[in-house]
Amino acid sequence: MGTVRDSLQRTVLDVDAPDCRDCARHLEEVLQAVPGVHEARVLSGTGEAVVVYDPGRTRPEDVREAVRRAGYAPSKEVTGAGPGRSLLLVLGALFGAVLLVAVLGEWMGWLDAVNRKLPWPVWVAAAAVGGLPIFRNVVRAALRGRVIAHTLMTVGMLAALAVGEWAAALVIVFFMRVGEFTERFTQERARDAVRHLARMSPQTARVERDGVEVQVPASAVRPGEQVVVRPGEAVPVDGEVLDGAATVDQAALTGEAMPVEVGTGDKVFAASVVRAGYLRVRATAVGPESTFGRALRLVQEAERDRAPVQLAADRFSGYYLPVVAALALVTFLVRRDPLATAAVLVVACSCSFALATPVAMLACLGAAARAGVLVKGGRYLELLARADVVLVDKTGTLTVGRPEVAEVVALDGAREEDVLRLAASAERYSEHPLAEAIRQAAQARGLLVPAPDRFEALSGFGVRAEVAGRTVEVGRPEGVSASVKAVAARLERLGKTVVAVSADGRPVGLLALADGPRPGTGAAFRALRELGVRHVELLTGDNEHVAEAVARPLGIGWRARLLPEEKIEVVGGYQARGHTVVMVGDGVNDAPALAQAHVGVAMGSAGTALAAEAAHVVLLREDWALLPRLILLSRRAMRTVWLNLGFTLAYNALGLSLAAVGLLPPTLAAALQSLPDLFILGNSSRLLRKF
Ligand code: ADP
Ligand code: MG
Repeated sequence: MGTVRDSLQRTVLDVDAPDCRDCARHLEEVLQAVPGVHEARVLSGTGEAVVVYDPGRTRPEDVREAVRRAGYAPSKEVTGAGPGRSLLLVLGALFGAVLLVAVLGEWMGWLDAVNRKLPWPVWVAAAAVGGLPIFRNVVRAALRGRVIAHTLMTVGMLAALAVGEWAAALVIVFFMRVGEFTERFTQERARDAVRHLARMSPQTARVERDGVEVQVPASAVRPGEQVVVRPGEAVPVDGEVLDGAATVDQAALTGEAMPVEVGTGDKVFAASVVRAGYLRVRATAVGPESTFGRALRLVQEAERDRAPVQLAADRFSGYYLPVVAALALVTFLVRRDPLATAAVLVVACSCSFALATPVAMLACLGAAARAGVLVKGGRYLELLARADVVLVDKTGTLTVGRPEVAEVVALDGAREEDVLRLAASAERYSEHPLAEAIRQAAQARGLLVPAPDRFEALSGFGVRAEVAGRTVEVGRPEGVSASVKAVAARLERLGKTVVAVSADGRPVGLLALADGPRPGTGAAFRALRELGVRHVELLTGDNEHVAEAVARPLGIGWRARLLPEEKIEVVGGYQARGHTVVMVGDGVNDAPALAQAHVGVAMGSAGTALAAEAAHVVLLREDWALLPRLILLSRRAMRTVWLNLGFTLAYNALGLSLAAVGLLPPTLAAALQSLPDLFILGNSSRLLRKF
């Protein structure tokens, strides 16, 4: 992301934001109006405000003060797990029972009978007390000149009171509260998948301090300290195994079902569980800095993202209320029937339009996160759903990324050992997978590799370094003699990557490196084609021979000899032709292309892929099968969103029509108003099991 953003700070405030979309939007406007605030998001339902601000121009205190001035008291911590599944049943049963009473009451005239039993002030008082929290929001909004969904319903309730339908008014109030509860319940349930992830956070650590083992909160471990992990326990930190051997289950982090064996020198990650064995680990990253901590934060932030489809739905609900108000007015003027008017006002809750998208998106984000796929927001699901071009980086993405030096060719009387030594020196500080392979090869031969005096990475080409007074270049074999080119070409046709080593401008040798495609790539590309992705293409800085040798057996296209900026151009070219482009890379030397793509996917082992800031999707597991599955999930997400929206729209249209012609009494209208929320919840939770 841009450098501007980097200087910005972020804070999350707990605000007493009332549980209504309009109030949340108002608070957002208030926050955005604070000088120095770049962006503000208020999550109605969880009472959190995320504020991105410029620390040079404002402070968190100022932001908090603005919240207070706007009349939203800072509140206690948001706590507690959401209502469980059994509660959904209870809720449903209660809803059904009351609905039954309302229906019977309406049809058998019970309400009329009850109406006469109690004096009217009792009814009015009961309605006022029962609906107090709602009326407060309505008044608060009204004072700002705003109309919210509950405003219309309140007017409807008042209409019932005005014509002496005391019991009906009370029933309406009751269902307004039920509706409010259903909405909150739906939101909370939607967050369950994400909360599930948070519950995996390691709690305690056994750390060795002054020779004794003490138990401390996991977040209290300091980097560099040694922790001990026993069977059944969670690894509390990211770190390196100092001693011991164990079978470690990383499912919580990467979704990888198979536990792995780790031993001395291996890396372990927080939130993995030791199934068998014993480990002593030196902590390298703790709490929010650990891979798990960063993954969790990423998913939590993704929750706050608003997909374009949601913005559209929000805009729509903005038009919806005036339409309902107009319809109510027409009903009143034409039919002179206060009860029908009241029914029109209470049958319509715009809340469901606002819920339709995020509930489905959250279910998907949560389901994906459990499988080790982190998506940075609903908008990327929306884009993935219509992706038709997938571009793939080669080294480390399509291939295993652990190339090995297969052959060393010495030129002009140089010795093989010298070629390798010079190359390894020059590559000392490079992060490229090829560099790692060259260092390994030198080490394997027991060569002494001096550190270079100067080092320079030539992006997309190789490296240049000063080694023992000589300028050594390692990189693409270009500008070499025809005979050397012929040797290189022979190796390349075997699918090997060839790099040239030169000293003071004179080629001294060639290194041929071999790196096979990852398992499962062929099947993944077939799956992508079945999903209708038309172009799958390899983009590589390597030459044509290698590109073809790798791509052809996989049945995908290729473009070779691309510089990093040319990869960006290829992505941009597809975009200009109206394609939706997914770019898959390791996020290290292809970050700009990932950022340019509609959806940049970083693939790598836990930890490395997460470091890819430019990516929009992070695969914590190096498993190509995840990509087609993710695209499939995103399509299901969009289908669910449209179904949610469609149902809500149809439901409201029907309800409004019936109410307007007097076929729907206001009590029933109120009772039915939270049905779309329940539909959205049920429909969207199906997604949780879909990944
Ligand atoms: P890709 O990831 O698509 O294979 P890169 O842009 O990373 O391509 O690299 C392109 C080419 O540049 C490599 O195939 C190699 O020939 C050369 N190269 C890049 N970095 C290095 C390096 N550190 N050492 C040697 N050669 C390099
Ligand atoms: Mg690369």
